[in-house]
Amino acid sequence: MEIKVLKNILSVNEQIAQKNRGLLDKNNIFTINIMSSPGAGKTSLILQTIKRLKDKTRIGVIEGDVSSSVDAETVGKEGVPVIQINTGGGCHLDANMVNNALSNLPLPDIDLLFIENVGNLICPASFALGDHKRVIVSSIPEGHDKPLKYPLMFHEANIVLLNKIDLLPYVAFDMKAFSQAIRNINEKLEIIPISCTTGQGIETWVSWLVAQMRKKNST
Ligand code: MG
Ligand code: ZN
Repeated sequence: MEIKVLKNILSVNEQIAQKNRGLLDKNNIFTINIMSSPGAGKTSLILQTIKRLKDKTRIGVIEGDVSSSVDAETVGKEGVPVIQINTGGGCHLDANMVNNALSNLPLPDIDLLFIENVGNLICPASFALGDHKRVIVSSIPEGHDKPLKYPLMFHEANIVLLNKIDLLPYVAFDMKAFSQAIRNINEKLEIIPISCTTGQGIETWVSWLVAQMRKKNST
């Protein structure tokens, strides 16, 4: 019985996600779902990306959190439209929450939308939101075994950003094991080492993002 209930929830979610996708496509908004465990650097990544792209692209942000609006306030200081979703204890965003957020954003004024998911490496992978690409932020202090422990998350991702690479000399992080675990899940999944503190790798990430956006807009 429990399994049937979960299946129904997911299929209703899928329908709303498709509605979201239609709305995003109609407004030409390239949308990125950013997922990670808490503290891996999703908000820092969004801030770094806004700093580099906001003169060229009109950006919007949906901030998902269990509670509080600290991240939305930080991102809002960059002068881009931000909507906060508080899940009220829920451990992932679902398509309906995103649908509500979209109705409160100035869609015609946005070309690139970031959805910061709730910090959690499990269920966000199972809930479609309507986005075009999924990004995982993993980080050096979390250790190299995350892809082994949470394979679904990595299986569903389009790119892995390995953040806090500046801490590599101080942490027992086995880069080879990390890459190999990811290869075993998805051979083609690209890993970009970045640091939101030093700026290392951010240009590479931004180039990837811009290339994906162009590809989408040319189809
Ligand atoms: Mg955050
Ligand atoms: Zn959840």
